[in-house]
Amino acid sequence: MDLCLVTTSWESSHERLLLTISTICDVTRFMYRKRFIALSLMQAALPAWAQSEFAEERDFMVEQVIQLAELTGAETGRPQFADRVIDALRTVPRHEFVPEALRGAAAYRNSPLPIGRGQTISQPYIVALMTDLAEVGSESVVLEIGTGSGYQAAVLAEFVDHVYTIEIMEPLGRRASETLERQGYANVSVRIGDGYQGWPEFAPFDAILVTAAPEEVPQPLIEQLKPGGRLVIPVGPENQVQSLQVLRKTGSGETQITAVLPVRFVPFLNEDDVTP
Ligand code: SAH
Repeated sequence: MDLCLVTTSWESSHERLLLTISTICDVTRFMYRKRFIALSLMQAALPAWAQSEFAEERDFMVEQVIQLAELTGAETGRPQFADRVIDALRTVPRHEFVPEALRGAAAYRNSPLPIGRGQTISQPYIVALMTDLAEVGSESVVLEIGTGSGYQAAVLAEFVDHVYTIEIMEPLGRRASETLERQGYANVSVRIGDGYQGWPEFAPFDAILVTAAPEEVPQPLIEQLKPGGRLVIPVGPENQVQSLQVLRKTGSGETQITAVLPVRFVPFLNEDDVTP
C-alpha cells in the first residue's frame, strides 16, 4: 500500500493541495530512503554473521503495517501497536517461514501467502493486530491454535515467556517446528493435533490466539484462559466475512466480547477434514 497514490485521484482545481501532498510524500520518501541508507550503512558496519537478510524489505513491511494500523485505528481501537509488537515484526525473518519459491522479497509483502495444504501465513498487519490485541508481555504464557508456518508463534516468542502452539496438519506442524528450532526459538512448543480442546496440561494461559475461523468459539479455550486473559479469534462461516473478536475473561469468570474487524481466515478444521 502506498498512501502517496491517493494523490492521483485529485482534480485539477486542487492542484495546490495536490502539490503540497505530493511534496509531503516526496519528503517522506526521501526521509525513508535516508533511513534506508543509514540502516544499510549500520548494517554494513556489522560483521557478516550479524547482518540480517532482507532487513530493508522487512523495514518497509513494518512501515506499511504502521500506516495501516493508523488508517484502521478508529475501527480497531488500535491506531498504534505496542513497540514490542513492532520490534518483533522488525526482527522475525518472515522469509524463513514461507515455502522456498517465495523466500525472497515476496515474503515481505503485506499480504497472506500460501504455505501448502491450502493454508496460508497470515498478512503481517493481521499478525501484528492479533499480537497487539492479546496484550501480552515478558511474563506471559500464550496458546496459539493454528501453527501453520510458525510465523505468528515466532512473533509472540520474541517477547513473551512461552508459546504453546497446536497444528492439525502434521506436515505443516513438523515443518514449522523445524523452522522454529532452526531460528533458535527455544520458548515455543509445537503439538500436532486438533486445537479445539486447547492444551489443558499447560493451562491456564494469559492469552489464546486462534488463526483459523470456527463458526463458534470453542468452549474449552474460554475455560483455559486466566482471569483477565484474552482470547483473540476470528469467528464466522467458511469462505465468508468473519469477525475478529476479543473475548476477555473477567476476574469473576464472565466473558466480555468485542468485535474488532471484519476478516477472512481459513476455516477451523476437525480431524475428519484432514487427509493424511
Ligand atoms: N498462524 C499461522 C497461520 C496459519 S493458517 C502462521 O503464522 O503461519 C491457519 C492454520 O490453522 C492452518 O495451518 C490450519 O491447518 C490450522 N488449523 C485449522 N484448524 C485447526 C485445528 N482445529 N487445530 C489446529 N490447527 C488448525
